[in-house]
Amino acid sequence: MKKIAFYGKGGIGKSTTASNVSAALSLMGKKVCQIGCDPKNDSTRLLLGHICKETVLDQVRRKDPDEICKEDIVHTGFHDIICVEAGGPEPGVGCAGRGIIVALQLLDKMKAIPDMDVTLYDVLGDVVCGGFSMPIREGYAKEIYIVSSGELMSLYAANNIAKGIRRFAARGEVRLAGIIGNSRNVPGEKELLTEFCKKLNTRLVAFIPRDKIVNLAENHKQTVLSYAPESSQADVYRALAKTIWENTELSIPTPMTFDELEKLAGTYGTQD
Ligand code: ADP
Ligand code: MG
Repeated sequence: MKKIAFYGKGGIGKSTTASNVSAALSLMGKKVCQIGCDPKNDSTRLLLGHICKETVLDQVRRKDPDEICKEDIVHTGFHDIICVEAGGPEPGVGCAGRGIIVALQLLDKMKAIPDMDVTLYDVLGDVVCGGFSMPIREGYAKEIYIVSSGELMSLYAANNIAKGIRRFAARGEVRLAGIIGNSRNVPGEKELLTEFCKKLNTRLVAFIPRDKIVNLAENHKQTVLSYAPESSQADVYRALAKTIWENTELSIPTPMTFDELEKLAGTYGTQD
């Protein structure tokens, strides 16, 4: 079974990319489970066709642990993809990272998720702290993909995540499996991301164009794979899913210093 995670700055396109990759993998005949580890709870929206109505933490808050049924927390989405949202605390109350720990432990204890070919954790991770590091710290995910654009703050988050992976790689099996470029139309973006990958001892597994079809599909609460399967954007997600399925090029990342990163981003950012 492949146990993978998508990390990256908030709003960079993790859930959109994850859902499209899950859809593509499922259409390749794989059994797929996507677990949202972001208090936004919207990781699986495009797969379910609506915001997940019951997160694991919603149930934990309302019920005794032994009253919770699998059916309450494990939902079925597009093409029978298993969808779970860890959930989060009420805004302003409690620690979101702690919530992820509680949710993942409960899923384990209940054996709530059947055998899968791929389990994909979609994790908010500007910095790999506390609960957000849980999927890599506790071995839930072994192959980590970082979603990033060529914008400095996105690269900064990616570099921080790489630092976290490096730390946990020293005492476990977790490895960096690649960077997924999600374009923001920054000048020289693909070249910048390719260079960034070289510095980090990894590779750019995809460079996803910024395309309105993604937003159109999102407005219809669908992935591009289901809304516009003939589009070139769907081809990009299908190719990424195939790369992820076949990927054996895992590495221990070599993060950059902030000064190096700033210099690198500056070099490309000034090009037209
Ligand atoms: P995250 O999960 O990292 O917080 P989302 O996946 O929710 O980010 O994406 C944030 C927004 O960016 C969404 O409105 C989504 O439709 C849009 N988006 C993501 N990737 C693309 C893309 N390649 N082209 C156009 N819009 C995109
Ligand atoms: Mg998200």
